[in-house]
Amino acid sequence: MSQTAQTVREDGVIASVSGPVVTARDLDARMNDVVYVGHEGLMGEVIEIEGDITTVQVYEETSGISPGEPVENTGEPLTVDLGPGLLDTIYDGVQRPLDILEDKMGSPYLDRGVDAPGIELDKQWEFEPEVEEGDAVEPGDVVGTVEETITIDHKVMVPPDYEGGEVVEINSGSYTVEETVVALDSGEEIKMRQEWPVREARPTVEKKTPRTPLVSGQRILDGLFPIAKGGTAAIPGPFGSGKTVTQHQLAKYADADIIIYVGCGERGNEMTEVIDDFPELEDPSTGNPLMARTSLIANTSNMPVAARESCVYTGITIAEFYRDMGYDVALMADSTSRWAEAMREISSRLEEMPGEEGYPAYLAARLAQFYERAGYFENINGTEGSVSAIGAVSPPGGDFSEPVTQNTLRIVKTFWALDADLAERRHFPSINWNESYSLYREQLDPWFQEEVAEDWPEVRQWAIDVLDEETELQEIVQLVGKDALPEDQQLTLEVARYLREAYLQQNAFHPVDTYCPPEKTYLMLTTIKTLNDEAFDALDAGVPIEEIIDIDAAPDINRIGVQEDYEEYVDDLKSRITDQLRNLY
Ligand code: ADP
Repeated sequence: MSQTAQTVREDGVIASVSGPVVTARDLDARMNDVVYVGHEGLMGEVIEIEGDITTVQVYEETSGISPGEPVENTGEPLTVDLGPGLLDTIYDGVQRPLDILEDKMGSPYLDRGVDAPGIELDKQWEFEPEVEEGDAVEPGDVVGTVEETITIDHKVMVPPDYEGGEVVEINSGSYTVEETVVALDSGEEIKMRQEWPVREARPTVEKKTPRTPLVSGQRILDGLFPIAKGGTAAIPGPFGSGKTVTQHQLAKYADADIIIYVGCGERGNEMTEVIDDFPELEDPSTGNPLMARTSLIANTSNMPVAARESCVYTGITIAEFYRDMGYDVALMADSTSRWAEAMREISSRLEEMPGEEGYPAYLAARLAQFYERAGYFENINGTEGSVSAIGAVSPPGGDFSEPVTQNTLRIVKTFWALDADLAERRHFPSINWNESYSLYREQLDPWFQEEVAEDWPEVRQWAIDVLDEETELQEIVQLVGKDALPEDQQLTLEVARYLREAYLQQNAFHPVDTYCPPEKTYLMLTTIKTLNDEAFDALDAGVPIEEIIDIDAAPDINRIGVQEDYEEYVDDLKSRITDQLRNLY
């Protein structure tokens, strides 16, 4: 958060303390002002004003502070520091870099009231200008770049709230984020550092219909339930369902330039895992550490529930900042249920009228506001960029009828239903194909037709139909057994089995299978469709089902996933399947 020394007025006293909610008397404040509470100066935000009582949600543990202690108002909304240095950093919920705090505190768990700038203030960055003296620049325009990490060039932009003007001074070379790199005739000085209030979306020209997929290399997603660049998705993750693995796969393989991972988890444990895991991951497309294009925002163990909210807003604002540079950003929020629980807790302390299951009535609106900041945009500097938002949900007991899941489903356009039963059967990724959906399918078809295959939509629909039919047939099989089915239905079950085993399953831990390009996804489906078409021809020609099912080429379908040279393998396999089946009649 912002570190600039605002004119701090010591103008209120604590009236009451109730967990993360503190009331102050005689505080001259506006909604959403950032205040410092108590002698320790704990950071909080004004969430309600009634008469001379101001209610503050505090982003740090409040035990030990008591009525009568001072409350200082900064007069500023909650802002984030934006500039080079955001990537390859792990933050807590109010954008304090964990490593720096760790050094300061000598412990991985932050003490209270400790402040640290969101980006390093004394680090020198090599600024390479992209404008010349006399150039006219407007808000959002890129005036130069710095190499932020080995993977990402950081675009230094005219802040959106500047007027712009003619460039009168350019300082190329090594500078800190607080030094002027470009000066304008309007008197405005452009620095690498900007600030932005987290609750306000950064301006854009236009939100466009997203037409490019965020290719994930996970074939069930790309093939059946694709998300667009700029799209929204929810992923419910009951315990042990493979949520962590799925999220790592997305972070590693989704073709986004930048990954923002927001962890508003349980206190401590869940997030410690993320903080330990992420820095170990490698970016498969560059071989660099994944952190070189990642910023991680994690609620730490001693941050109370209120900080979950600031985590989410801080994350989306950082995502928008990189979008403004023209990048495709994928933001993963884990878990939005914990954020919703925080809203519930704060709301109940405020004694607001509870809605469904005790969640506040504004739950739906808050979730919508968050997901609305995702999208594919034309930026104010003319570039295009996207923020894709993928929110994990943790429905208690895996029950999707609870309010957070239901409200999320009304907003997001992609739903990847992780399924504990599938995980138990070791079917991975355990995404339930009956319950999942994507509303982007049709609008992304032209991309897949252009880039992969003209008949992509038909092949996908064929696979969906077979899987649907299998689901229906399984119910009958439960009752009467498979052998009681007519032969054509038995054959459908056999084809569906290959769809499930070869296509829907994908081993995240196999060096080749872990990433499946869309071309391979397509070829896998067409191979299974070849089996289907040829097998039904054979059946029509009077070949007994046992013989059809028994051809020895068919099981090789299950090995496509692990083939590096899959094109050759698939060509050969398709002809073997065809030959063997035609030889039967
Ligand atoms: P969760 O985070 O939901 O508790 P994990 O993501 O840790 O669950 O997954 C549990 C286990 O399931 C993993 O340790 C791994 O063995 C297995 N698993 C999950 N997803 C996959 C996958 N795509 N491929 C292979 N194994 C997987």
